Amino acid sequence: MRPESLFPFFKPVTSINGIGPRIAILVEKAAGAHVIDLCWHLPSAIIDRRYAPRVANALPGVVATMTLTIDKHAKPPNKRLPYKVYCSDDTGKIALVFFHAHEEYLRKNLPEGEVRVVSGKIEQFGKELQITHPDHIGTADEIARLQAVEPVYPLTTGLTLKVLGKAVRASLEGLADLPEWIDTAYLAQQGWKPWRDALLEAHDPEDEAALDPQAPARQRLAYDELLSNQLALALVRVAMRKVKGRAIEGDGALRTNVIDALPFKLTSSQEEALGEIYEDMAAPIRMLRLLQGDVGSGKTVVALLAMLNAIEAGGQAAIMAPTEILARQHLATIEPLAEAVGIGVVLLTGREKGKTRQAVLDKLESGEATLVVGTHALFQDDVGFRELNMAVIDEQHRFGVHQRLTLAAKGRAVDILVMTATPIPRTLMLTAYGDMDVSRLPDKPAGRLPIDTRVMPIERLGDVTQALKRSLDTGAGIYWVCPLVEESEVLDVAAAEDRHAYLKRIFGDVAGLVHGRMKGKEKDAAMEAFASRQTRILVATTVIEVGVDVPDATVMVIEHAERFGLAQLHQLRGRIGRAEKPSTCLLLYAAPLTGPAEARLKIMRETDDGFRIAEEDLRLRGAGELLGTRQSGLPEFRIADLGVHGELLAAARDDAALIISRDAELITERGQALRTLLYLFEREAAVRNLRSG
Ligand code: ADP
Ligand code: MG
Repeated sequence: MRPESLFPFFKPVTSINGIGPRIAILVEKAAGAHVIDLCWHLPSAIIDRRYAPRVANALPGVVATMTLTIDKHAKPPNKRLPYKVYCSDDTGKIALVFFHAHEEYLRKNLPEGEVRVVSGKIEQFGKELQITHPDHIGTADEIARLQAVEPVYPLTTGLTLKVLGKAVRASLEGLADLPEWIDTAYLAQQGWKPWRDALLEAHDPEDEAALDPQAPARQRLAYDELLSNQLALALVRVAMRKVKGRAIEGDGALRTNVIDALPFKLTSSQEEALGEIYEDMAAPIRMLRLLQGDVGSGKTVVALLAMLNAIEAGGQAAIMAPTEILARQHLATIEPLAEAVGIGVVLLTGREKGKTRQAVLDKLESGEATLVVGTHALFQDDVGFRELNMAVIDEQHRFGVHQRLTLAAKGRAVDILVMTATPIPRTLMLTAYGDMDVSRLPDKPAGRLPIDTRVMPIERLGDVTQALKRSLDTGAGIYWVCPLVEESEVLDVAAAEDRHAYLKRIFGDVAGLVHGRMKGKEKDAAMEAFASRQTRILVATTVIEVGVDVPDATVMVIEHAERFGLAQLHQLRGRIGRAEKPSTCLLLYAAPLTGPAEARLKIMRETDDGFRIAEEDLRLRGAGELLGTRQSGLPEFRIADLGVHGELLAAARDDAALIISRDAELITERGQALRTLLYLFEREAAVRNLRSG
């Protein structure tokens, strides 16, 4: 249960005076749905309103706050002309200019003959000085508030700074201070203020320097966030380790046969990873291991062998994928190999319903089925196992810590292997997985050729289709990936459909289409047609992003490549270059390119080293481009910026380890404060693991 002291923070934004349901929608979009989200919504810029010249000295082009006498309202003869309010001080005259003015409102706020404080940008219009649509108008006694440095918050269309700024101020008002959760010595060493003071300071920047992520107030808040992240991960780990593991050691019978049946030899890094996994499984503790390998590095077969080990030992194993398509892909890879050694594989996704689903559930419950491939559907409450002792979670960054626990809870001391194809930089790795043990598959199976990547403007579409004709003649399969239109799946699909129609006119029925709005069966059919070479060009939205495996496909065209993040481009490109044939990737862009977009495309052309790409991605995003984490599913931080706060992360990690070693149940005074911290950053799943949580 969330501590009562935090209730005010988690009230909806509509509880703030002046925020009705209509504005709430905009505020939610810009910042979030709760008061706390407004607290975390830090200014991204400032407007310095401290310049307060007399009219005679006022410099055009500068924002100023001026004390003026309102002389005369001048209503325009027609509505296309602006409404003007003439003002002055004893040094000169200046006009306030309003388009589409509401006279009544202006007369009320700027009564003739009175003195008002007006803030806005000074403009020169012919010989006249003017301020068009002043940002603020107040009475003389409000000057202190108005003649100040105003924080500028990230906005959204339809939401003005005035409204959002007011909402943020309201959310900060009456903020209770919270007990200190940072170690006293560390706090003193860093020279940080208490939480509440730091928050208020971060919202009240005095100058540009205060906006720097390394400004003390922002550092403190970033540290809080990173500490909550590291502590939550550490607690999850403790909880998982608390359940005594089982020693799982099969006799190797199934595995030997599968290895014999493989059309290839395992690479030495696959062998090594398996060695580490078997060792964990055999130990009486619970395995919590991450298998990290670039796309195409051969993780699936490693996972299968690990699961067979569990089955040899008399248990059941599950492998869970983030999407329906991927689950089916795993099934297609795993089933023939498993069946060759007499193991039936069942499938459980959102699409299995009614009797089919019940039959699968029965088989899992009775233990008749030992190997299940599935999606989130495996999490559902009514899914039970006779003896689940091994779970593989593929592309786990899409699931999150909480779900990882849910599946683990379905068996006693389930060993967990998490697979990820995202080559994660060390810093991100810590935030996503904490201290999980890691096995890596650094090299790709032998014989793979590098992918020839080219970047060209969309105007060369004609040349591209010519080149595709030649590729088709040599037998290649071709992916054509269509752009991602933010927040509009409908538009994505429309773009893909248009492109499909275009390619069909040129190439005929060999052009297929798959997208996210198709029904499951249609998607399968489209993928299947491509895999079996009935279609040779597959126009797709990013549904093919992860894991899909068609070795014959050696050409990929990515349209509007400039709109994709680096991690995503790399994932997509990983769909080709999977066989011992040369592959080509064409990145088509629409000019003009922004700086970061150009940098991304350049990196893609230069390297296919996933780790280098990941590092560059982090660097680019640290430079302000907000791409990547949302797409890759890695945790997003409100305040911390991993591009710059790497050292704080390391400190938070050490701190979390120390806390766990001294007060794993968080019962000391500081422990209690740390619980509050976890709730503050909405990491209640971690608190729930505590005995007295
Ligand atoms: P990942 O899941 O890591 O992206 P996959 O497990 O899908 O990669 O493997 C990619 C392809 O490489 C598959 O077609 C798989 O059969 C093949 N493969 C896996 N291991 C080897 C190996 N040791 N030698 C040759 N090919 C392999
Ligand atoms: Mg895979």
